[in-house]
Amino acid sequence: MATSGVTAVTGNPIVVTIHGINSAGKWQEDVSGALGVHFEFRTVKYRHYRWLGGLKLVAEPWVLALAAACPFAILWLPWGWVALLTIALLGASWPARKIRYICAWTSVRRQLSDHLRSAPGYVIAHSMGSHFACRAIQESSDFALWRVILVGCVAPEGFPWGDVLKRTEGTRPDAVRNEVAPMDRIVRLAQKARWWMPYALFGGAGAIGFQPISATIHDVKEPSEVCTPCQQANGPIHNVWYNYGGHSSSFVGKAHGAIFWLPFFWGYDPAQYRLFHALSRRAHISMLEKKFDELMATQARLHATGWGGKDGSLDASLRSAFAYHAVTPNATQLDRAATLVWQKIVNAQQAVDRKGAESAALCLNPTVAVALAVEEILG
Ligand SMILES: [Zn+2]
Repeated sequence: MATSGVTAVTGNPIVVTIHGINSAGKWQEDVSGALGVHFEFRTVKYRHYRWLGGLKLVAEPWVLALAAACPFAILWLPWGWVALLTIALLGASWPARKIRYICAWTSVRRQLSDHLRSAPGYVIAHSMGSHFACRAIQESSDFALWRVILVGCVAPEGFPWGDVLKRTEGTRPDAVRNEVAPMDRIVRLAQKARWWMPYALFGGAGAIGFQPISATIHDVKEPSEVCTPCQQANGPIHNVWYNYGGHSSSFVGKAHGAIFWLPFFWGYDPAQYRLFHALSRRAHISMLEKKFDELMATQARLHATGWGGKDGSLDASLRSAFAYHAVTPNATQLDRAATLVWQKIVNAQQAVDRKGAESAALCLNPTVAVALAVEEILG
């Protein structure tokens, strides 16, 4: 029986992770450890493709094992019957694979429903998990996947996003980040072997991106690049190209999740978010090195820089936070608040790997840092 892991209820937004084949999904625990302070992580697990996953997609190994044992029947049956039985079992292993697939899908679907029935959630899905996530998105369900990250995605590049996005809000994803690795050999194999798979929804989206590029599907050629079409109008589907990545590169270390996935879930452009964090770090280093001219220049740049959220700049965000307290800030208050913001962000960066520093890590989100900085100034 497949198992599902459920973290303690925190009241944070829910992130559901779905692993791929030939894996127990250890990365699911690693990601929840790295980002768990910001979200409530829940795991979808299934054991149907834990071993020999690729073989199980194209043939049922138990039936193949019976076929392999057939020669022993020569003790009781004429060789003609033995040959016929062997051929019949080899042929039966092909349709029998669908039974395993249906069991796996039923288990995944039930776990998704259990986790997300009460409220839409975020999803990180890898490899075969991305196939299941896309099937869940395509089918009408009693749950909704809100912001979705696909890694090593084996769904078809021509997935019908147009039809999905016509659905009403709450029944379709708000945004999808498809991390594309053109050298991902597993996805390339899934693309070539799509007609051998036990269900139609397989292909090479993780190696060539969702197609066609349009007003709704944008290509971002480098993960550190700001999406140009989104400067005009936001697109819900993004292929983000990791040109040197492989099938599981995203799961090496905590940094990938902290740099790219956190801002995506928060609705920020990951490249702008990363720039804001880098400027905060630069301000911190200038202060440590007592390079005060450089510090002033960086802080001036921070005032005018945003992190890809709804407010275009730090100053705009600070003014909104002061306005929430019915205060119009003067220049000194704005500058003091800006200093507190980059200090809190650097403190959060340093807290990521520090046990007991979870509350500091909350300020990785610049919006949280802004709210706390303004509260601190207003006493
Ligand atoms: Zn875009």
